Order: sequence, then structure tokens, then C-alpha cells
Amino acid sequence: MMRLLVLSAPSGAGKTTIARQLIQRHPSWRFSVSATTRQQRPGEVDGSDYFFLEREEFQQRIANGDLIEWEEIFGNLYGTLRSHIARQLQESEGDSRMIFDVDVKGALSIRAAFPNESLLVFIAPPSLEELERRLRNRQTESPEVQQTRINRARMEMAMQGEFDAVVVNDVVERAVQQIEALLQ
Ligand code: 5GP
Repeated sequence: MMRLLVLSAPSGAGKTTIARQLIQRHPSWRFSVSATTRQQRPGEVDGSDYFFLEREEFQQRIANGDLIEWEEIFGNLYGTLRSHIARQLQESEGDSRMIFDVDVKGALSIRAAFPNESLLVFIAPPSLEELERRLRNRQTESPEVQQTRINRARMEMAMQGEFDAVVVNDVVERAVQQIEALLQ
């Protein structure tokens, strides 16, 4: 049976790095590739980092019931495609894992859809102050955008009690090992 490892964190807490390392260390584990309407960033690969969709297509897919869960985050739609998960579950062998990188509400929806298979892990920054400092230092974003991200980070931190475990990401290697230990 494939089990689902659902990782959530406020933006800037290093969750994507942790997810990548887990996949590197466990070649049979799969990454759940989400769909999104946000712009592709340099270096991102369509179909590997995300399925990049136009808003109209995404909305059509919602209407068709193609998404297990979806959220609007910072003005873009993000969601988990039913067909992608079904394919991964079919192709999985043995003690495989599927890793999700979703926001906190998405994590609770995945648990609701797969109550017996899901483990929800919240990746916390060493401190909220440090996270806020990092977000404020992003030169590429306006103060308004920075404030929106900080407010969302506070909301997400407030929901960590809903998770099965909280792992503090001070040293990435240690966080990865703590997550592995949870799966034993
Ligand atoms: P980013 O744009 O930085 O890649 O992601 C922004 C946020 O969207 C992150 O918190 C990420 O975990 C979340 N996210 C990515 N994919 C999904 C998804 O399929 N569902 C939900 N609910 N959130 C997602």
C-alpha cells in the first residue's frame, strides 16, 4: 500500500528543499505534482514541479470534479489532480510513499480523502520572527505582498496543532532525518 506523507509549512520555511531531499534518498518515493495557475518560475519544469494550467482550464477541471482538493493562494489556484494521484497509486510498488507539498488547508483535505494512509507533518521555521525577517528581506516583493505572506504565515503557524507531527527546520539534514524517523 502506498502511504501519503503530507508536508505543509509557511512559505520560506524550506519545505520544498526537504521534499526534494526525501525523494533523492528514497528513489521509490514519488512527488505529488500539483496543478497551478501561477507563472512558471525560471528552472521549473512543467509536469515535474507543477502542471501549469491556464485559469480557465483549471476552473473547468474543478467543475469536472478532477481535483481532490484545491485552494486559492496569493491570487493563484493550486490543487491536487485526481488522475495524477490515481496513476501514481497504480504504479507504486511495495513500501512506497507519496510526498505532498501543499498548504495547511490542502493537507487537511488530503487527510479527509485518505484518512488511513496519510501522515501530516508541519515544517516549522526556527522562529516566526526569523521567518518574518526573511520574508521582509525579499527585495523582489512589494511591502504589500510581503505583508500578505506574513499574515498567511501566521495563519498557517496557528494551524500546526492539527498535524500529526511538527518538525522544526533549523538544519535541513536533521529535519529530513526526523521525518524519516516518523515513518519507521
Ligand atoms: P509556490 O507558489 O511557492 O510553489 O507555492 C505556494 C503554496 O501553495 C505553498 O504553500 C504550497 O505548499 C501550496 N501548494 C502547492 N501545491 C498545492 C496543492 O496542490 N494544493 C494546495 N492546497 N496547496 C498547494
